[in-house]
Amino acid sequence: ERKKLKRLRTARANTLDGTVVELHANIEKPEDIADAKENGATGVGLFRSEFLFLNRDDLPGEEEQFLAYRAAAEGMDGQPVTIRTFDLGADKQLKGAERVASNPALGLRAIRLCLAEPQLFRTQLRALLRATHYGNVKILIPMLSSVSEINQTLQFIEATKRSLDAEGIPYDREVKIGGMIEIPAAALALNAFAKKLDFLSIGTNDLIQYTLAIDRTDEEVAHLYDPLHPAVLHLMAHVIGTANKLGVPISVCGEMAGELPYTRLLLGFGLRQFSMFSAQVPSVKQRVLTTSLPEIAALTQKILRADDPMRIRELLDRLNA
Ligand code: PEP
Ligand code: MG
Repeated sequence: ERKKLKRLRTARANTLDGTVVELHANIEKPEDIADAKENGATGVGLFRSEFLFLNRDDLPGEEEQFLAYRAAAEGMDGQPVTIRTFDLGADKQLKGAERVASNPALGLRAIRLCLAEPQLFRTQLRALLRATHYGNVKILIPMLSSVSEINQTLQFIEATKRSLDAEGIPYDREVKIGGMIEIPAAALALNAFAKKLDFLSIGTNDLIQYTLAIDRTDEEVAHLYDPLHPAVLHLMAHVIGTANKLGVPISVCGEMAGELPYTRLLLGFGLRQFSMFSAQVPSVKQRVLTTSLPEIAALTQKILRADDPMRIRELLDRLNA
């Protein structure tokens, strides 16, 4: 059994027809890298950097952040490490800086907060860029809703590069900048995002929350939170299909990416890169290894055309049988 597990860990996650699929890990701190490698992840698809901030009273400075990002970069031995800039606000508040927003999920969070707090953002960007020198680091921007936010972010990054240049500090000049697609507006106006960014990653947790207007933290409406809602499936298929057509790398890093019932569905939509909790990698890999893309193509299209929730579930069961 141990041997079998070990073989599974080092095996490539290819489909039966030989299509290469990448299974990456979601991490919260550099120490999680050990788990990611242990479970056979071939990269980090989402490093939620805001966890460096949570449960403490002070803010980590540039050096502390740099050491954390460098540790993750070096830990993955050249495999990609996608670090997301702070996704603070809403359910992830800074201690002592809790903002009173009447509607936090729609308020000053994530990239909005970073653009409003240039000092905080610049410090993180310096730490991130410095870490690119020590591995295959990519930078991911959360909660983008408009092209203007992309432009402002890219300007911040350019300015930070110039200040590092002036100080003679090395960094990867070709560092890839990607954006999270987790607001319906971004999914629907995808072309502009795909043109300006090097890669995209769908955050299904927020995409579902905003598409269905269901607070993901509110128990009282949890029963309405539905990844299989036709509107959600259409948005996902649209984003994955469009990105593939445009040749922009696309991944899914929300919970859906690690949940077995959705593995084949996402493969059928054209997804080739998944990012999930490390512990989910082996079972998702097992599912990928037993999937034939030609065999699931018709059924995934049928699911996309169905509009009755019961029918969608019935077809999904068939897809996973
Ligand atoms: C998401 O929204 O799906 C996501 C990956 O980001 P987070 O869960 O950290 O908001
Ligand atoms: Mg999110």
